[in-house]
Amino acid sequence: MKIIVAVKRVIDYAVKIRVKPDKTGVETANVKMSMNPFCEIALEEALRIRESGLASEVIAVTIGPSQSVDTLRTGLAMGADRGIHVDAAIGLNPLTIAKILKALVHIENPGLLILGKQAIDDDCNQTGQMVAGLLNWPQGTFASKVILDKEKQVATVEREVDGGLETLCLDLPAVITTDLRLNQPRYATLPNIMKAKSKVIKKYTPEELKVQIKSDLEVVQVTEPPKRKTGVIVSSVDELIDKLKNEACVI
Ligand code: AMP
Repeated sequence: MKIIVAVKRVIDYAVKIRVKPDKTGVETANVKMSMNPFCEIALEEALRIRESGLASEVIAVTIGPSQSVDTLRTGLAMGADRGIHVDAAIGLNPLTIAKILKALVHIENPGLLILGKQAIDDDCNQTGQMVAGLLNWPQGTFASKVILDKEKQVATVEREVDGGLETLCLDLPAVITTDLRLNQPRYATLPNIMKAKSKVIKKYTPEELKVQIKSDLEVVQVTEPPKRKTGVIVSSVDELIDKLKNEACVI
């Protein structure tokens, strides 16, 4: 069984985001980019499944401009067997990404498609659900535990919901999206970084996959959140209580 993992290149989670002066988006020039943290978890899970003998191959897929290949190389250094780069503009909407992933699923025929539950740049949390809908495959979103049964061809997915834990049983092939608690992704070791350089990355364009790039969304404006007001240092507990009573909204 093959596993496809969708990995997105995003601004590194530790970078302080700056909005462009013209408010059309956020600054990405000369900014550290990394693999979306939820995608690292998705890849880690796929690698663990392969290492336990339940899958034969892990394919990392990214959709984006040429620099996205760096993210694929990171995925290959973590242990993915090969990569697929779909050369496309930055900022495609989740439906377009889902259509591209669907086309790749039809080429590769994986038993599992694993995605992050959300990308930390757009926080959409839509792609996994959309691709499952387009493929008509069962979906286990926000997975915090995944157990595969190769013989029965099912995946048992535990997911955190408001009231506790929900356990789903999905017939394979299926789509899984990963939550933070699923696993702790590994670091790429130096020998694996070297090995990754010779792993195969296949390239496609959206046109080759017969996906039309169009958006029904327009970003009108991106603005910074309001600045936090500076605080005051109180000189005594009485002053604090007074402020809490008279100036703060304490229920
Ligand atoms: P989103 O729906 O945008 O929050 O993204 C959810 C997940 O979809 C991500 O964690 C990735 O697994 C996948 N994904 C979204 N955009 C891309 C992309 N450009 N390339 C590869 N995977 C993507």
